[in-house]
Amino acid sequence: MPCFNRKLSWVLLAMVALTIDVAQSLATNTEQIEVQAEDGNQTVEGVVLVEAIDGGVLLEMADEGLKLIQPASIVSRTTIDRPAVPESPRELGRRILGELPPGFDLVVTKHYLICFDTSRAYAQWCGALFERLYDAFGNFWRQAGFPLTEPRRPLIVVIFSDRQRYAALAAHDLGSATDRVVGYYNLLNNRVTTFDLTGSDMLAKKPSLSPGRTGLEILMNPEASGLVATLVHEATHQMAFNCGMHHRLAPVPLWVSEGVATYFETPDLSSERGWRGIGIVNKPRREHFMKTCRPGMLESIVLGDEPFRRADDAMDAYARAWSLTYFLVQTRKHAFVSYLQTIAKKLPLEDDSPQQRRQEFITAFGESPTEIEGPLLKFMARLK
Ligand SMILES: [Zn+2]
Repeated sequence: MPCFNRKLSWVLLAMVALTIDVAQSLATNTEQIEVQAEDGNQTVEGVVLVEAIDGGVLLEMADEGLKLIQPASIVSRTTIDRPAVPESPRELGRRILGELPPGFDLVVTKHYLICFDTSRAYAQWCGALFERLYDAFGNFWRQAGFPLTEPRRPLIVVIFSDRQRYAALAAHDLGSATDRVVGYYNLLNNRVTTFDLTGSDMLAKKPSLSPGRTGLEILMNPEASGLVATLVHEATHQMAFNCGMHHRLAPVPLWVSEGVATYFETPDLSSERGWRGIGIVNKPRREHFMKTCRPGMLESIVLGDEPFRRADDAMDAYARAWSLTYFLVQTRKHAFVSYLQTIAKKLPLEDDSPQQRRQEFITAFGESPTEIEGPLLKFMARLK
């Protein structure tokens, strides 16, 4: 189940949102901020994304992490005149390796920085999958009339070879949900973290194996479908938050971000590379939707995010998010893109309300969530 990252992320967001009352602006100044801490003052440097009325700031640091700084802890702020010089991917990678347990190495691809303690061939296979997804994601939205932007920095993915080492690190982010979460995108540090679900890498540790050979072995594994879906799902979230589709910590309705991720996640194991298509019917999500659909189901996910956060309702909510997104992309693509563009304008820590969500939905699609249930059900019933 690859989606609990959102639960984590929005729990964190809720904590952050409670701390800053009003987000004033999205600034772009690079600053050095001296911050009071228990063990002495520290200086942090980054771009101030949001400045609250009470003086608190949301800072995006060079390692892509977001840091909320309370007004009471700010000792001084200095705007830096020189333009920020970004680290090279390898410099950034070496810094991240310093935070990870021993044994990790780097693969750098065109858009990704992959930190791995699997075999290099396995990490390269994952990198090739991510790059295919990256190109397909950009092409899909460009053709739909929503050209995306290039990410400002490499997209960081951390892949563990075994579950225990992954769990030791993930527990810090996921807490008690760690057992159920096999990969996640963390909005705060902007990273995807996962492990080799198939265990096939134990075979691939032999250095003579090529990425292509490794790929074949991976896809023969019974867990291959879950592996590909998890990698693609979480990488889709990461792209959406780094290519102009959503802002991190903005009030992006979960049905939209999960709808987009589930729209793309469907593996295609008939392709030797494991994933090639967009818009393949997601059979498990469709079956779950048909079994659990009921009146009022769309209102509950469009107006609020709670169904995604409740363990008992989450599977239903994800199935509905996929179904609604699939239906809208297939039958009202122009309106869906217009809706995504409305969501893309939402800034970090902006206010949100059920009324506003309903109105934005009606403005884009011309009907309320309840009115769309009938056409959606008919469409899903006919879908093979
Ligand atoms: Zn998700």
